[in-house]
Amino acid sequence: MKHDLYPAPRCPRISVAGSALTLPVRRIWCVGRNYHAHAVEMGAQGEPQPPFFFAKPAHALVANPVRIPMPPQTCELHHEVELLLVLGRGGHNLTVDAAAQCIIAAGVAVDLTRRDVQALAKQQGRPWALAKGFDFSAPCGEVALVDEPLPADAELALWVDGVQMQRGRLAQMIAPQAAVIAALSQQVRLAPGDVILTGTPAGVGPLSPGQTVRARIDGLPELTFEIGEPDTMATTEQHVTAEDVLAFWFGEPGTPVESQFQIWFKKDPELDALIRTRFEGALQRATRGELDSWAETPRGRLALIILLDQFSRNMYRDTPAAFAQDEQARALALAGVELGHDAALAPIEAAFVYMPFEHGESMAWQERAVASLTALTERTDLAVIKSFVTYAHKHHEVIAEFGRYPHRNAILQRDNTEAEEAYLAQPGAGF
Ligand code: MN
Repeated sequence: MKHDLYPAPRCPRISVAGSALTLPVRRIWCVGRNYHAHAVEMGAQGEPQPPFFFAKPAHALVANPVRIPMPPQTCELHHEVELLLVLGRGGHNLTVDAAAQCIIAAGVAVDLTRRDVQALAKQQGRPWALAKGFDFSAPCGEVALVDEPLPADAELALWVDGVQMQRGRLAQMIAPQAAVIAALSQQVRLAPGDVILTGTPAGVGPLSPGQTVRARIDGLPELTFEIGEPDTMATTEQHVTAEDVLAFWFGEPGTPVESQFQIWFKKDPELDALIRTRFEGALQRATRGELDSWAETPRGRLALIILLDQFSRNMYRDTPAAFAQDEQARALALAGVELGHDAALAPIEAAFVYMPFEHGESMAWQERAVASLTALTERTDLAVIKSFVTYAHKHHEVIAEFGRYPHRNAILQRDNTEAEEAYLAQPGAGF
């Protein structure tokens, strides 16, 4: 069984206004110099020239942003208001008519540009990928579903702190909407989820932290966001989410419970190492209380409990650190039961909310573990839940006899009693 070493990158999505639909983004294509007046302000001379294409990484897209952090290494962040088109179908060497039929949605985007970085790249004859494709460089609003290009008389405009800086009409595009798609399809094989920023009219200019950008195109949802201070988040740390934890522990939705036994019940050094690589940072944050907000929802609380009560046992197997988070996990489990979070989860998920009780070295915790897991058998016929109940009874017996788990004694530097020595000498003692 193979596991991803880190969470699969999430596909950016654009939201459809007034609908539950979202549009997954595959690639972001941009059109350069598609409005003659903008080409002129960028230094072009003579007759209008055919536009050209460049790209931004899909993850540069930020749907419905509130704030876009000021990007690093620029003193000249420029705004470019643009019509954004989403393709619902694709193809190669499309005719203009076929290209028009690929458009499934339209919205407003701002092609943020580090103009100084771009100017230097041009001067040096180098690519301007990083002038255009930096993090958060493609903010966009909600989109409207459409089945044809937008009317050419639609106006597009952009304001900075309420002052209008850009204004144009789609009719001014050198290559109109369908022609852009057709031209691009000569060069790449287009597919659903390809997004096109169709170029900007004149009036591009600088933005700085604290300024508010408002962009609109007739007939489409507006886009408003603020330019924030430079991003101060630690950029090297992968930020693990509660859903990352749950996807790892329970598999993707629809995964049969049995196929997770390899993860839940197997002592596998390679799996332990993988869990440590992927989740140790999150566990450390959890122990510092930095993930407490996860506990606001049943699924988030479950993820936090799995991190503190299960992943800790994998990561730090046979060391005291394996048990160091048990009290915190039990408090979360207890509060979750009081809030009814366990009842909002599937039985197999709720079972892991109760595991911190089973790990507790007191009869009160053991009785709670047996009772909670037994109650789950009224909600489901899953064989694994029945086996969890059997195991809960076995744990209960050990604590009833010794008042603690003898197999933890060596790890926690506790001396064994004679009775514990005898118990541990039996084959299969411990859990
Ligand atoms: Mn642009």
